[in-house]
Amino acid sequence: MYDHRRLGRELDLFDTDPLIGSGLPYWLPGGAAVRHALEEYVRSAEQRAGYRHVHSPVLGKRELYEISGHWSHYSDDMFPPMKLGAEEVVLRPSLCPHHALIYRSRPHSHRELPLRMAELGGMYRSELSGVLGGLTRVRAIHLNDAHVFCTLDQVAAEAGAALEMIRDAYAALGIAPARYRLSLPGPGGKYVDAPEKWRRSTELLTEVLDRSGLPYEAAEGEAAFYGPKIDVQIADPAGRESTLSTVQVDFHQPERFDLAYIGADGAKHRPVMVHRSIIGSVERAVAHLIERHGGAFPAWLAPVQVAVLPVTEEQLPQAEALVRRCAGLGLRAEATGPDRGGLGARIRDARLVPYQAVIGPAEAADDRVAIRLRDGRRLDALPAGEALAGIAAQVEAHSTVLWDGAPNALRT
Ligand SMILES: [Zn+2]
Repeated sequence: MYDHRRLGRELDLFDTDPLIGSGLPYWLPGGAAVRHALEEYVRSAEQRAGYRHVHSPVLGKRELYEISGHWSHYSDDMFPPMKLGAEEVVLRPSLCPHHALIYRSRPHSHRELPLRMAELGGMYRSELSGVLGGLTRVRAIHLNDAHVFCTLDQVAAEAGAALEMIRDAYAALGIAPARYRLSLPGPGGKYVDAPEKWRRSTELLTEVLDRSGLPYEAAEGEAAFYGPKIDVQIADPAGRESTLSTVQVDFHQPERFDLAYIGADGAKHRPVMVHRSIIGSVERAVAHLIERHGGAFPAWLAPVQVAVLPVTEEQLPQAEALVRRCAGLGLRAEATGPDRGGLGARIRDARLVPYQAVIGPAEAADDRVAIRLRDGRRLDALPAGEALAGIAAQVEAHSTVLWDGAPNALRT
């Protein structure tokens, strides 16, 4: 059973320092490499799906959250406001209000809808120090977030497309949902009081789930304060569930922010907001990846993708040249020389690295490498250029399968 907190420290992925504070982990170069690969994957998938990215600040005035409803429904989870002269600013508990204002800043025609706005941005939660730990309970969260501003007729297609993006991402990450959940309001929660809107959005999400053919369970008391959600649940090795991805329908915030578009009839209409996150927070996604893979990440996510191992000191120059060629192809590689132990020991040390490129005197003499795969398979010595091109193509395709030497053939 893997614990991401222990593995994260052992593999030099992330750590914490009491002077920075609990719930505020920092990322070491290896962890940052995993995180960046994940972020690049998501941004590129969003771009291909017609999303446009924005950036917005992590602070906002208290009034912003009074309008959005966070202040009255969610302030227990928010950091206290900071006084700045006559103003009060707060660390944002979500990205939605900023995106609503960005939408509102320009006039919109029905021809622009669905308008898909994405941002991988910071948000903050005032978790108590007793529950903080690792990457799963943190005070600073980086959320893969997006809001689709659309007509009521477009909601089902947009929510369905988001579910497909989630499915594709999980395949590339080598993870699986524990279950799909239709999250509904429950007794005693702080929810926006608009029964007709709750009924309509619940109906829409039910329709999306039914049409997707995915098995799901309804759960009371799990909705957002402004609307119901489809939550994609993951489980840690102890079986504890948490939400990674989510798709939500929101009639509330468009009204609170008085959002509008001009319809074909020339009149003003109110758009619906679909909130959706493909991989959830980067922190929780990486924690889950560490635990799911025990540190043996799919090659495209691995902190080091190619471990270059010269057999003796004589092949060090060729090893270093191979590392530079990897870098030129966008591959993360590291050479480890005999000063770090015998070849067997170095192979063992690199057991989580997807590809190990061994260079002995014969390989060094004619620019070849002997590739060993993380799963123990060994390929005959290949021209270095051919091996690197095969590995790079497999990485580029975000495959969870390792390249096995087949020429020009993608293994998926
Ligand atoms: Zn949102």
